[in-house]
Amino acid sequence: MRIASNWVFRETSRLGFAAVLLAGSIQAQADLRVFACEPEWAALAQELSPRSVVYSATTAQQDPHQVQPRPGLISKMRKADLVVCSGAELEVGWLPVLQQKSGNRKVQSRDEGLFFAADYVETIDKAESTGPLAGDIHEDGNPHLHLDPYRILDISKALAERMANLDPASAKIYRDNQSAFADRWQAQIETWEKQAEPLKGLNLIAYHSNFDYLLNWLGINTVGDLEPKPGVPPSSRHLASLLQKSQSLQVDGVIYASYQNAQGADWLSKKLGVPNVELPMSVGGNEDSHDLTGLYGSLIQTLLKTVTGSSS
Ligand SMILES: [Zn+2]
Repeated sequence: MRIASNWVFRETSRLGFAAVLLAGSIQAQADLRVFACEPEWAALAQELSPRSVVYSATTAQQDPHQVQPRPGLISKMRKADLVVCSGAELEVGWLPVLQQKSGNRKVQSRDEGLFFAADYVETIDKAESTGPLAGDIHEDGNPHLHLDPYRILDISKALAERMANLDPASAKIYRDNQSAFADRWQAQIETWEKQAEPLKGLNLIAYHSNFDYLLNWLGINTVGDLEPKPGVPPSSRHLASLLQKSQSLQVDGVIYASYQNAQGADWLSKKLGVPNVELPMSVGGNEDSHDLTGLYGSLIQTLLKTVTGSSS
Protein backbone atom coordinates (compact mmCIF):
# COMPACT_ATOMS: atom_id res chain seq x y z
CA MET A 1 0.00 0.00 0.00
CA ARG A 2 1.40 3.37 -0.89
CA ILE A 3 0.22 6.86 -0.11
CA ALA A 4 1.81 9.93 -1.66
CA SER A 5 3.63 11.86 1.01
CA ASN A 6 1.93 15.14 0.13
CA TRP A 7 -1.47 13.51 0.67
CA VAL A 8 -0.42 12.40 4.14
CA PHE A 9 0.90 15.85 4.90
CA ARG A 10 -2.29 17.62 3.78
CA GLU A 11 -4.58 15.25 5.63
CA THR A 12 -2.42 15.41 8.73
CA SER A 13 -2.71 19.16 8.98
CA ARG A 14 -6.45 19.02 8.42
CA LEU A 15 -7.42 16.04 10.54
CA GLY A 16 -4.72 16.27 13.16
CA PHE A 17 -3.51 13.47 15.36
CA ALA A 18 -5.78 10.69 14.07
CA ALA A 19 -4.37 11.07 10.58
CA VAL A 20 -0.82 10.94 11.90
CA LEU A 21 -1.64 7.64 13.58
CA LEU A 22 -3.26 6.37 10.41
CA ALA A 23 -0.28 7.35 8.29
CA GLY A 24 2.03 5.75 10.81
CA SER A 25 0.19 2.46 10.80
CA ILE A 26 -0.02 2.39 7.02
CA GLN A 27 3.69 3.07 6.70
CA ALA A 28 4.57 0.45 9.27
CA GLN A 29 2.78 -2.21 7.25
CA ALA A 30 5.50 -2.37 4.60
CA ASP A 31 3.34 -4.75 2.68
CA LEU A 32 5.23 -5.80 -0.40
CA ARG A 33 4.01 -9.03 -1.89
CA VAL A 34 7.10 -11.19 -2.22
CA PHE A 35 7.37 -14.34 -4.31
CA ALA A 36 10.46 -16.33 -3.32
CA CYS A 37 11.75 -19.18 -5.46
CA GLU A 38 13.20 -21.02 -2.45
CA PRO A 39 12.38 -21.00 1.29
CA GLU A 40 15.70 -19.40 2.25
CA TRP A 41 14.80 -16.23 0.34
CA ALA A 42 11.29 -16.22 1.76
CA ALA A 43 12.88 -16.37 5.22
CA LEU A 44 15.29 -13.55 4.43
CA ALA A 45 12.50 -11.37 2.99
CA GLN A 46 10.51 -12.00 6.14
CA GLU A 47 13.46 -10.88 8.30
CA LEU A 48 13.66 -7.61 6.39
CA SER A 49 9.95 -7.05 6.13
CA PRO A 50 8.02 -9.08 8.72
CA ARG A 51 4.68 -7.67 7.64
CA SER A 52 5.06 -8.42 3.97
CA VAL A 53 3.11 -11.24 2.45
CA VAL A 54 5.80 -13.73 1.50
CA TYR A 55 5.25 -16.87 -0.54
CA SER A 56 7.78 -19.58 -1.33
CA ALA A 57 7.40 -21.46 -4.60
CA THR A 58 9.25 -24.50 -3.24
CA THR A 59 9.91 -26.25 0.05
CA ALA A 60 13.17 -27.70 1.36
CA GLN A 61 11.83 -31.12 0.34
CA GLN A 62 11.72 -30.10 -3.31
CA ASP A 63 14.48 -29.96 -5.88
CA PRO A 64 14.82 -26.26 -6.75
CA HIS A 65 16.41 -27.11 -10.13
CA GLN A 66 13.22 -28.76 -11.30
CA VAL A 67 9.86 -27.22 -10.60
CA GLN A 68 6.61 -27.58 -12.50
CA PRO A 69 5.35 -24.12 -13.52
CA ARG A 70 1.84 -25.03 -12.39
CA PRO A 71 -1.13 -22.60 -12.45
CA GLY A 72 -1.00 -21.95 -8.69
CA LEU A 73 2.53 -20.60 -9.04
CA ILE A 74 1.59 -18.45 -12.03
CA SER A 75 -1.24 -16.82 -10.12
CA LYS A 76 1.02 -16.14 -7.13
CA MET A 77 3.57 -14.52 -9.41
CA ARG A 78 0.88 -12.44 -11.09
CA LYS A 79 0.26 -10.65 -7.78
CA ALA A 80 3.90 -10.21 -6.73
CA ASP A 81 5.69 -6.89 -6.31
CA LEU A 82 9.03 -8.60 -5.89
CA VAL A 83 10.43 -11.97 -6.95
CA VAL A 84 13.48 -13.17 -5.01
CA CYS A 85 15.48 -16.13 -6.32
CA SER A 86 18.99 -17.57 -6.14
CA GLY A 87 19.78 -16.82 -9.78
CA ALA A 88 23.00 -18.13 -11.38
CA GLU A 89 20.70 -20.26 -13.54
CA LEU A 90 19.31 -22.35 -10.69
CA GLU A 91 15.75 -21.54 -11.76
CA VAL A 92 16.46 -21.26 -15.49
CA GLY A 93 14.21 -24.25 -16.25
CA TRP A 94 11.05 -22.84 -14.70
CA LEU A 95 11.23 -19.20 -13.61
CA PRO A 96 11.11 -17.66 -17.13
CA VAL A 97 7.94 -19.65 -17.87
CA LEU A 98 6.30 -18.31 -14.70
CA GLN A 99 7.36 -14.74 -15.50
CA GLN A 100 6.02 -14.93 -19.00
CA LYS A 101 2.75 -16.65 -18.14
CA SER A 102 2.07 -14.38 -15.18
CA GLY A 103 2.16 -11.32 -17.46
CA ASN A 104 3.30 -9.32 -14.43
CA ARG A 105 5.39 -6.47 -15.81
CA LYS A 106 6.72 -5.56 -12.38
CA VAL A 107 8.81 -8.71 -12.05
CA GLN A 108 10.49 -9.00 -15.46
CA SER A 109 13.56 -6.84 -14.94
CA ARG A 110 16.51 -7.29 -12.59
CA ASP A 111 16.46 -3.51 -12.14
CA GLU A 112 12.91 -3.61 -10.82
CA GLY A 113 10.95 -6.40 -9.18
CA LEU A 114 13.23 -9.32 -10.04
CA PHE A 115 16.04 -9.95 -7.54
CA PHE A 116 18.73 -12.60 -8.03
CA ALA A 117 20.86 -13.18 -4.95
CA ALA A 118 23.75 -14.35 -7.14
CA ASP A 119 23.95 -10.88 -8.73
CA TYR A 120 25.29 -9.48 -5.46
CA VAL A 121 27.98 -12.00 -4.48
CA GLU A 122 30.77 -13.97 -6.13
CA THR A 123 29.84 -17.55 -6.95
CA ILE A 124 32.22 -20.50 -6.54
CA ASP A 125 32.74 -23.58 -8.75
CA LYS A 126 32.45 -21.65 -12.01
CA ALA A 127 32.33 -24.17 -14.84
CA GLU A 128 35.47 -24.35 -16.93
CA SER A 129 34.33 -26.63 -19.67
CA THR A 130 30.81 -27.16 -20.91
CA GLY A 131 29.34 -29.30 -23.61
CA PRO A 132 26.99 -32.20 -24.14
CA LEU A 133 29.11 -34.53 -22.00
CA ALA A 134 29.61 -32.20 -19.06
CA GLY A 135 26.18 -32.84 -17.53
CA ASP A 136 23.78 -30.32 -16.11
CA ILE A 137 26.37 -27.92 -14.73
CA HIS A 138 25.90 -24.44 -13.40
CA GLU A 139 27.80 -22.25 -15.85
CA ASP A 140 27.42 -19.13 -13.73
CA GLY A 141 28.90 -20.89 -10.74
CA ASN A 142 27.29 -22.68 -7.84
CA PRO A 143 23.87 -21.14 -7.12
CA HIS A 144 23.42 -22.81 -3.71
CA LEU A 145 24.90 -19.74 -2.09
CA HIS A 146 22.49 -19.36 0.80
CA LEU A 147 24.69 -21.63 2.88
CA ASP A 148 27.52 -19.12 3.23
CA PRO A 149 26.66 -16.76 6.09
CA TYR A 150 28.89 -13.93 4.82
CA ARG A 151 27.17 -13.97 1.47
CA ILE A 152 23.82 -13.88 3.27
CA LEU A 153 24.94 -10.62 4.89
CA ASP A 154 25.76 -9.00 1.53
CA ILE A 155 22.54 -10.29 0.00
CA SER A 156 20.43 -9.01 2.91
CA LYS A 157 21.82 -5.54 2.34
CA ALA A 158 21.10 -5.61 -1.39
CA LEU A 159 17.61 -7.02 -0.81
CA ALA A 160 16.73 -4.36 1.75
CA GLU A 161 17.84 -1.68 -0.73
CA ARG A 162 15.70 -3.24 -3.43
CA MET A 163 12.69 -3.27 -1.11
CA ALA A 164 13.39 0.36 -0.24
CA ASN A 165 13.47 1.28 -3.93
CA LEU A 166 10.22 -0.50 -4.67
CA ASP A 167 8.47 0.87 -1.61
CA PRO A 168 10.13 4.19 -0.70
CA ALA A 169 7.49 5.03 1.92
CA SER A 170 8.81 2.17 4.06
CA ALA A 171 12.48 2.48 3.12
CA LYS A 172 13.53 3.17 6.68
CA ILE A 173 11.77 0.05 7.96
CA TYR A 174 13.63 -2.22 5.53
CA ARG A 175 16.98 -0.60 6.31
CA ASP A 176 16.44 -0.72 10.08
CA ASN A 177 15.37 -4.35 9.91
CA GLN A 178 18.41 -5.18 7.81
CA SER A 179 20.76 -3.57 10.26
CA ALA A 180 19.16 -5.39 13.21
CA PHE A 181 19.36 -8.65 11.26
CA ALA A 182 23.02 -8.02 10.36
CA ASP A 183 23.92 -7.43 14.03
CA ARG A 184 22.23 -10.64 15.14
CA TRP A 185 23.65 -12.60 12.24
CA GLN A 186 27.22 -11.39 12.80
CA ALA A 187 27.05 -12.51 16.42
CA GLN A 188 25.68 -15.88 15.27
CA ILE A 189 28.55 -16.33 12.82
CA GLU A 190 31.04 -16.07 15.68
CA THR A 191 29.12 -18.63 17.72
CA TRP A 192 28.77 -21.02 14.79
CA GLU A 193 32.44 -20.79 13.89
CA LYS A 194 33.41 -21.70 17.45
CA GLN A 195 30.95 -24.58 17.61
CA ALA A 196 32.08 -25.94 14.26
CA GLU A 197 35.81 -26.08 15.12
CA PRO A 198 35.75 -29.92 15.49
CA LEU A 199 34.44 -30.22 11.92
CA LYS A 200 37.54 -28.69 10.36
CA GLY A 201 39.44 -31.04 8.10
CA LEU A 202 36.71 -33.71 7.88
CA ASN A 203 36.46 -35.55 4.57
CA LEU A 204 32.91 -35.96 3.30
CA ILE A 205 31.32 -37.42 0.23
CA ALA A 206 28.48 -35.17 -0.91
CA TYR A 207 25.58 -35.34 -3.33
CA HIS A 208 25.64 -32.57 -5.95
CA SER A 209 27.28 -29.25 -5.07
CA ASN A 210 24.45 -28.31 -2.66
CA PHE A 211 26.62 -27.84 0.40
CA ASP A 212 29.85 -26.54 -1.16
CA TYR A 213 29.52 -23.06 0.35
CA LEU A 214 28.83 -24.49 3.79
CA LEU A 215 31.70 -26.99 3.59
CA ASN A 216 34.13 -24.33 2.33
CA TRP A 217 33.14 -22.01 5.13
CA LEU A 218 33.62 -24.68 7.80
CA GLY A 219 36.89 -26.03 6.36
CA ILE A 220 35.43 -29.45 5.47
CA ASN A 221 36.80 -31.27 2.41
CA THR A 222 34.62 -32.83 -0.27
CA VAL A 223 36.38 -35.99 -1.42
CA GLY A 224 33.72 -37.33 -3.75
CA ASP A 225 30.31 -36.68 -5.27
CA LEU A 226 27.51 -39.23 -5.51
CA GLU A 227 26.57 -37.75 -8.89
CA PRO A 228 28.61 -39.08 -11.81
CA LYS A 229 27.97 -35.72 -13.52
CA PRO A 230 26.18 -32.66 -12.15
CA GLY A 231 22.45 -33.21 -12.22
CA VAL A 232 22.76 -36.94 -12.98
CA PRO A 233 21.55 -39.27 -10.18
CA PRO A 234 24.02 -41.77 -8.67
CA SER A 235 24.41 -44.90 -10.80
CA SER A 236 25.56 -48.23 -9.35
CA ARG A 237 28.65 -48.08 -11.54
CA HIS A 238 29.57 -44.64 -10.22
CA LEU A 239 28.92 -45.71 -6.63
CA ALA A 240 31.19 -48.72 -7.08
CA SER A 241 33.97 -46.50 -8.38
CA LEU A 242 33.48 -44.12 -5.46
CA LEU A 243 33.77 -47.05 -3.09
CA GLN A 244 36.98 -48.14 -4.75
CA LYS A 245 38.40 -44.63 -4.58
CA SER A 246 37.34 -44.22 -0.95
CA GLN A 247 39.31 -47.25 0.23
CA SER A 248 42.55 -45.32 0.03
CA LEU A 249 40.99 -42.20 1.55
CA GLN A 250 39.92 -41.36 5.03
CA VAL A 251 36.18 -40.72 4.55
CA ASP A 252 34.27 -39.44 7.59
CA GLY A 253 30.72 -39.46 6.26
CA VAL A 254 28.31 -39.18 3.35
CA ILE A 255 25.90 -36.23 3.18
CA TYR A 256 22.83 -35.53 1.10
CA ALA A 257 20.10 -32.90 1.08
CA SER A 258 16.57 -33.13 2.48
CA TYR A 259 15.08 -33.39 -1.03
CA GLN A 260 17.47 -35.99 -2.40
CA ASN A 261 17.04 -39.74 -2.58
CA ALA A 262 18.95 -41.38 0.29
CA GLN A 263 19.54 -44.72 -1.46
CA GLY A 264 23.00 -44.11 -2.95
CA ALA A 265 24.29 -42.39 0.20
CA ASP A 266 22.89 -45.22 2.29
CA TRP A 267 24.58 -47.94 0.24
CA LEU A 268 27.96 -46.22 0.13
CA SER A 269 28.01 -45.23 3.80
CA LYS A 270 27.21 -48.81 4.85
CA LYS A 271 29.99 -50.19 2.66
CA LEU A 272 32.40 -47.66 4.12
CA GLY A 273 31.13 -48.01 7.68
CA VAL A 274 30.66 -44.25 8.05
CA PRO A 275 27.62 -42.14 8.98
CA ASN A 276 25.03 -41.29 6.38
CA VAL A 277 23.67 -37.82 7.06
CA GLU A 278 20.59 -36.05 5.75
CA LEU A 279 21.01 -32.27 6.00
CA PRO A 280 18.24 -29.69 5.64
CA MET A 281 18.63 -27.96 2.29
CA SER A 282 16.76 -24.90 3.43
CA VAL A 283 14.44 -23.42 6.00
CA GLY A 284 11.81 -26.05 6.83
CA GLY A 285 14.15 -28.93 5.94
CA ASN A 286 13.79 -30.34 9.46
CA GLU A 287 12.03 -29.33 12.65
CA ASP A 288 14.89 -27.14 13.92
CA SER A 289 15.20 -25.17 10.69
CA HIS A 290 12.30 -22.83 11.27
CA ASP A 291 14.26 -19.77 10.10
CA LEU A 292 17.71 -18.99 8.70
CA THR A 293 19.34 -19.01 12.13
CA GLY A 294 17.69 -22.33 12.94
CA LEU A 295 18.84 -23.75 9.61
CA TYR A 296 22.50 -22.91 10.15
CA GLY A 297 22.37 -24.07 13.76
CA SER A 298 20.81 -27.36 12.70
CA LEU A 299 23.34 -27.96 9.90
CA ILE A 300 26.23 -27.53 12.31
CA GLN A 301 24.67 -29.52 15.18
CA THR A 302 23.67 -32.36 12.86
CA LEU A 303 27.22 -32.64 11.51
CA LEU A 304 28.69 -32.48 15.00
CA LYS A 305 26.38 -35.17 16.35
CA THR A 306 26.50 -37.58 13.44
CA VAL A 307 30.02 -37.23 12.07
CA THR A 308 32.15 -36.29 15.07
CA GLY A 309 29.81 -37.76 17.69
CA SER A 310 29.83 -34.54 19.70
CA SER A 311 27.63 -31.50 20.08
CA SER A 312 27.85 -28.14 21.73
ZN1 LIG B 1 22.66 -27.20 -8.25
